[in-house]
Amino acid sequence: MNVLVINCGSSSLKFQLIQSDTEDVLAKGLCERIGIEGSRIVYTPAGKDKITIESPMPDHTNAIKLVLNCLTDETNGVVKSLSEIHAVGHRVVHGGEKFASSVVVNDEVMKAIEECSNLAPLHNPANLLGISVCKELMPGVPQVAVFDTAFHQTMPPKAYLYGLPYEAYTEDKIRRYGFHGTSHSYVSKRVAEMLGKKPEDLKTIVCHLGNGSSICAVNQGKCVDTTMGLTPLAGLLMGTRCGDIDPSILEFYAQKHNLDVYQVTDILNKKSGVLGISGVSSDFRDVEEAADAGNERCKYALDAFKYQVAKFIGGYAAAMNGVDVIVFTAGVGENSATTRQGVCDYLGYLGITIDAEANGKRGEEIEITTADSKVKVFVVPTNEELMIARDTVALTK
Ligand code: ADP
Repeated sequence: MNVLVINCGSSSLKFQLIQSDTEDVLAKGLCERIGIEGSRIVYTPAGKDKITIESPMPDHTNAIKLVLNCLTDETNGVVKSLSEIHAVGHRVVHGGEKFASSVVVNDEVMKAIEECSNLAPLHNPANLLGISVCKELMPGVPQVAVFDTAFHQTMPPKAYLYGLPYEAYTEDKIRRYGFHGTSHSYVSKRVAEMLGKKPEDLKTIVCHLGNGSSICAVNQGKCVDTTMGLTPLAGLLMGTRCGDIDPSILEFYAQKHNLDVYQVTDILNKKSGVLGISGVSSDFRDVEEAADAGNERCKYALDAFKYQVAKFIGGYAAAMNGVDVIVFTAGVGENSATTRQGVCDYLGYLGITIDAEANGKRGEEIEITTADSKVKVFVVPTNEELMIARDTVALTK
């Protein structure tokens, strides 16, 4: 079965065509600047060089048409016709409390995703648009929605309730939802496979550290807590997001600088975190380089990040009454040996000892602890697209 995986953002669209039996990626790519000047598609058929096509994409319909043209192109296409695309899997950011697993899309599901839009106003409308356009261009082809929040729906009330009036939860749906669920789910299952164990027999902490970062406590295969909250602004400080802060800062900052709540929220989302503290960049590579060259603020930013990761790991080890394996994934988690080492330096009390040589490797599935380490630490590159394709096949085959 060939599954088209679509991750539709407001002005971009990432896609992969995956052959589900072999799990080979037949082609992948990205449409950028949809709806704005200078739009282009970057398309990479397996085993060939990437091709960049500058082409106007006034809306998502044009973008998806272009993707389908690339996939079926006589020279660089990977399928002969659209009939060789058997299902489409869509990443949907927010499923609220309605979706605890992936679903085949029908009118009712579309309506429910729309109802969750107030919880993710930047993402859900774009995700929905992607589904609508695919339905229109590929009539009869089953569409599946895979939610970033679904894996976290197993959290107990003590983990998802905020200390607010209870009506904030019952009436306004304000609670911890968590994000990156597809990644946490994939990585926690994969590490169990690598250990030759069932997820049910493990206490796992997954550190998804990228531009956006979150940590997830997975007990017996189920999420019991995670760092992101009602929105992806919560938890760890990130590339540009502040993470957990004293909520009174919002009013204090607004008063001090005569800003409204939207302006302060914008600062918390886009000008804070590693970028805010360092003043240099949100990209960990730049910040690590500047810190190595002696930039103090860059050192503070990286130190704060590693410290916060270690604090959450400690908290989740307590929450699960132990931890068997810790996994690093995503851009920073997969590539930054110094971040992994720095985090694990706090974890000696858990009996963790890092194998420096293994930790020096990059971007591969690997155990980075020594044989006698009491808690195992792994690097597992995440693969959200594959997870989406697997769910799509399971629901449509
Ligand atoms: P997103 O949240 O956008 O999906 P990614 O998971 O792709 O983010 O992670 C992007 C981050 O990974 C960037 O901050 C980038 O600097 C970081 N990164 C990538 N390679 C390295 C590296 N070799 N060393 C340190 N950080 C890296």
